[in-house]
Amino acid sequence: MSWPLSTAPTSPTWVLSPTMTSAPGGETYLELRKIKIYNETIESIERLSTASAGDASLPTYPEYDLFRVHLAGGEVVERGAFFAKFTDELASSVGPDMGVRLDGGRLTADYAKGLITNIPGVYAVGDANTDGATNIPHALFSGKRAAIYLHVQLERETANAQIAAYKQERDVVEEEDVRALWERMNGEPGDLLYAGEYRE
Ligand SMILES: Cc1cc2nc3c(=O)[nH]c(=O)nc-3n(C[C@H](O)[C@H](O)[C@H](O)COP(=O)(O)OP(=O)(O)OC[C@H]3O[C@@H](n4cnc5c(N)ncnc54)[C@H](O)[C@@H]3O)c2cc1C
Repeated sequence: MSWPLSTAPTSPTWVLSPTMTSAPGGETYLELRKIKIYNETIESIERLSTASAGDASLPTYPEYDLFRVHLAGGEVVERGAFFAKFTDELASSVGPDMGVRLDGGRLTADYAKGLITNIPGVYAVGDANTDGATNIPHALFSGKRAAIYLHVQLERETANAQIAAYKQERDVVEEEDVRALWERMNGEPGDLLYAGEYRE
């Protein structure tokens, strides 16, 4: 059964949320929007109609789901959609176990340094980090950002190691050149210009 939007139930059913009524002006806002609060537990939800597939080529389209909501007090209301909020917490203890500093239960990331944490080599991306964003584009973006930073760090380490090795090699070559020149110019003991063994 399809449900024309104009006749679909429009006033939402709320199970009382402390945030809504404790926020400044919260109660007035609910009154203004004629939102009735049912401070009750939802006992069961019955589906009355299912949304049609809609036109997937459109950015958005109306959906006509309809549900019958049975409240614990015996009242029954019909609604088209539900909003839900759940508490969330880190599912994994891997970060804290490694010593990553937490802020509000999330892994603290340094945004200026590719989302690195206080533990060298450990980066915090996606929902787990402290930037407050929890969506898929953010998870992808933050992962990419950390990967690029990490890549540059690894290349920097490789370059530094190569420079250090090159300098050491060059110093050895330079020292050998000086020693060889000394021995050639110095001559043998007893020669006029002989000045002793080469000293570093
Ligand atoms: C109901 C719901 C609807 C959502 N709808 C949308 C939406 O429409 N659009 C949108 O952009 N975002 C939506 N999101 C948010 C989105 O899903 C997340 O922001 C995104 O998935 C975060 O990606 P993530 O890689 O950081 O974490 P996750 O996707 O949570 O991935 C973490 C992975 O780590 C694994 N894991 C945990 N512990 C360990 C361990 N110890 N060892 C190994 N693996 C481990 C988990 O199993 C999981 O696979 C929704 C979220 C929920 C809950």
